[in-house]
Parts: sequence; structure tokens; C-alpha cells
Amino acid sequence: MKGLMMDRPLLTTEILKHAVRNYRHTEIITRTVEGPIHRYTFSDSEKRIKKLANALVKMGVKPGMRVGVIGWNTYRQFELYYAIGGIGAVCHTINPRLGPENALYVINHAEDDILFFDTTFTTLVAQLAPNLNTVKTFFALTDKHHAPDFDAPLLTYEELIAPESDHFVWPEFDENTAVALCYTSGTTGLPKGVLYSHRALVLQTLATSSASILSYREGDVILPVVPMFHVNAWNMPYSCPMIGCSLVFPGPGLDGESLSELFETEKVTHALGVPTVWLGLLQYLEKTGKSLPHLKSVLVGGSALSEALIRGFEKHDVEMIQGWGMTEMSPVGTINALSQESKKLPDKERYALQLKQGRALPFVDMRIVGDDGAVLPNDGETTGNLQVRGFWIIANYYKADKETVTEDGWFDTGDVAAIDEDGYMQITDRSKDVIKSGGEWISSIDIENAALLHPGVAQAGVIGVYHPKWQERPLLVVAKKEGQNPSAEDISAFVNERLAKIAWPDAVEFVDEIPLGATGKILKTRLREMFKGYELPV
Ligand code: AMP
Repeated sequence: MKGLMMDRPLLTTEILKHAVRNYRHTEIITRTVEGPIHRYTFSDSEKRIKKLANALVKMGVKPGMRVGVIGWNTYRQFELYYAIGGIGAVCHTINPRLGPENALYVINHAEDDILFFDTTFTTLVAQLAPNLNTVKTFFALTDKHHAPDFDAPLLTYEELIAPESDHFVWPEFDENTAVALCYTSGTTGLPKGVLYSHRALVLQTLATSSASILSYREGDVILPVVPMFHVNAWNMPYSCPMIGCSLVFPGPGLDGESLSELFETEKVTHALGVPTVWLGLLQYLEKTGKSLPHLKSVLVGGSALSEALIRGFEKHDVEMIQGWGMTEMSPVGTINALSQESKKLPDKERYALQLKQGRALPFVDMRIVGDDGAVLPNDGETTGNLQVRGFWIIANYYKADKETVTEDGWFDTGDVAAIDEDGYMQITDRSKDVIKSGGEWISSIDIENAALLHPGVAQAGVIGVYHPKWQERPLLVVAKKEGQNPSAEDISAFVNERLAKIAWPDAVEFVDEIPLGATGKILKTRLREMFKGYELPV
């Protein structure tokens, strides 16, 4: 027997509707790319979102069309999120940090029709423009007075929306319609597109809004440092309007000084970002003697939280909460919100608990499996390949020709983890062959391939080693060809010429032989053991 409830679609515009209905005076504050602070309310924002929706429809943007955005966290990108998705089109967020080659590939692969970009990225976009196959129109995310010089015809965002009406009736459509697209290079090979649906993001929003998960409440002031150009800024553009929190967008100012200033002037209560950002802020606070009088918690994810960070922020009375997720998981999978009981544990035990990646959100299932596919026990000791399933977890990559999930419907994360009896998951290793530097991925294969082009290199293996600022940086390990004697400097210069700057190895080391597994693949686990404790030149 079927239930007799209304079958209404879960669409992101419903979140906006809720925010405007209940929290219309709540503010969105931005440190703009142009410089000054911009502030307005959810109600003002909705009006501009509707103007943008009218402009997009008038321009011929149809449901399903991809609209590219390369931008900082600002109120304009917030408007793009809602307007593009609201008319049934797809907001393709592009990560400028991964270099021009990556940007060119993803824009062409997504077949974006229109490209919005912050003026910081004018040079990048101008460089890409001649090779973009589908982009017909470019918009700079600014006003006429700040319009950059650009070879192709260019209009500004403010000119685009100015003449439009702020009345727009949001269409209703299937909740499984795509709303956003984000490419991950968190795997080897070409970037892969993760296509989010309205349903996935609305359900994730509901789950992250629960007080037991993040404890954000109406009136809190949230500053996501985590970028809107990658993994939906951990869903904050949706969760904050849902809960009634103010949003503070830092624009391009992500250094310690800029953040500290915003924390203070805007009385930020909670912030989110990767460990590198928080290390930078701590250093700034130590240097200047400044404090964080309003900040209560920081959600740290993207890379592992460290005890040094927990202790450093504890001095300022700020709780570090760890989260874990992936682009493929929209992205939130776990949050390590300590229970009232565990907050009372002795420091040593509490730190050990906080260093775990956390417990699964509602509707996220996690399991660990062995290499033979057998499901392993959740005893906190046994480690295995971490697999997940749930409402906001990828079923397939965009335009992929083969299935992404296992035969029994799980997604393999490429992380290796243990899960304890209380449901806390802890990542212990990574089976995917990548390095994460300051929250951005580097493909070890790309570096190895570049090194192998060197006439003096017989074998090359790249591993991530600990770095005090970036968490991980690439170490290139080389076995020389017989009779050849290239120097480390020579190899560095050679590979750097062929790689995006972020991927330049921090050091080159030589071995007689690179350890290989039974199938001839480099044994990264062995290589990591060989260079355990390796100290990079800083
Ligand atoms: P991305 O798709 O760029 O968000 O990267 C997802 C990957 O980042 C995960 O599969 C993990 O390897 C890593 N990651 C994310 N959060 C954490 C965390 N809290 N601790 C350790 N690794 C993490």
C-alpha cells in the first residue's frame, strides 16, 4: 500500500524560499574582489537571484545547459548557485588552482555555454578562450567600472542583471534534475565530473542542519573558507539559509591577516576550511598576539586534523571539529561532533577521539572491505577499503562509460580506514594514488610520467610526505638508467617544466630500484615505508 502524501520535488529554490520567509533580515557579507565589504540580506539576495534568473532565461539558457563559474566565495557566486539551479540549468564550478590545462579540459568536457569569472582570473580565462570549444559568452563578476580588458566581447555581471525584473516564478521539475557539476582530480588520470542533483543537495542540507551534527543555529555567523569553486563549499551556501545563519564570504582574502580581521569585525562564530588555512591563521595570531573573541568552532576537513591544530585553537577557546567527505559525496560524509560526555574526557583520550574523521551523517552508510571484497568488522582495529552509499553519493561520473559503484551498490572511496563500535571512522591510509597539498590534489602519476621522459631516469615513483604547512608534498623517487648520472636539480628542472606549479616535487631522491608489486605496479606502501619520517627541505 502506498502512502498518501504529496509528492513534491526537493529543489534548492525551496531552501531559498524558506530563508526569505523566515530569516529575511539575516545578512550575507562579502569581502569583495574589488575591495570593499558588501552586505545585504537574504531578502535582497533573492531579488538579485531572480533578476539573474530572468537574465539567464532571456539569454537562452535552457534546462540542462551547463554554465561555468570561476570565482571566489562571494555573494555573486551565491546568486549564481541558486539562479542557475533554479531554472533547471547546471552550475559548473571550476577550480582555478588546478592550472590552465585542467580548467580547459573541464570546461570543454562539460561543454559550458557561458562562463562567469572573477576578475582575478582574467588572465587565465583570456589564455583559455581561444581553445574553448563551446563557450559563447563571457561575463566578468563585477560592475562596469571594474571591467577588465579582455580580447573577446565581455559584459559584466552587474550590467547583465541591472535591467531585469526581480519577479520570477521558479519552475518545478523532477528533483533528480542536475543542479551543479564539480570535477575531481582526486583520482589519477583525467578529471572526472560529479553531477549533483537537487534531491541530493537538499537532503544533505537537511542532514547537516541537525543540531547534533554541526550545532549551528539561527543567528550564528558562518565563514566558509572552503571554496565555492570546489565541493559546494561543504554545502554551506545551502545549509546556512536553511538554518538561518549569516554567511560571511571572504572573497580572495584567505591569509591569516584578512581572515582574522573578518572574524573580528563580523563577529564570526563558526568557520570551515582545510588545515593549511588554519595553520596560517594560527601563525598570524601568534605573531600579532591577536585573539579570536567570537569564534566558537572550526570545521576542519579535506585533509586530516592534527593535534597541534587542536591545541593551538584551544588556546583561543575554539573547538576544532573534524569532517570527512569527497567531491563524490556532495561532499559531507562524516562529522566528528563530540558528545557532551566525550568533551569531559582527559585531554589525551579526547584528542585521540577528535583525530578520528567522525561518525556518518544520517543516511550515509559506511563499511570497510578487504581486497577480496569481504566486509570487515567494525572493531576500531581492522582496516580496509572504505566504501559508502547514500542519497548524496555518486552513482556514476559525468559522461562515464563504466559503472562507478560496486555490484552491490557501494562507492569505493580510495581511503583506507577503521570503524569502531561507536561508529567513529578513522582514515589510516589511502589506496588511491594521489597527494593532497593544502586541500588540492596532485596526481603522482603525472609527476612520474614527466620524470620518465628524462633520458637519465629508469623508474620513477612519487609519494606524498609530511609537510608542516601543506600537510603533504610530493617526493619524487628515482632509479637512474645504467650509465647515466643526472642530478636532483637537473631532474627537478626537467619535470617542473612539464607540470603545473602545484605539482612541482619538493625533493628528488635516488634509489637503486623502485619496489614493484606482483603486477609490476609501484609498491607505494613499501616506498612510503622506505621514506617514513622523511623531512622535506622547508
Ligand atoms: P575531495 O574530493 O577533493 O574533497 O577529496 C576527498 C578526499 O580527501 C578523501 O577521499 C580523503 O582522501 C581526503 N580527506 C577529506 N577529508 C579528510 C580528513 N578529514 N582526513 C583525512 N583525509 C581527508
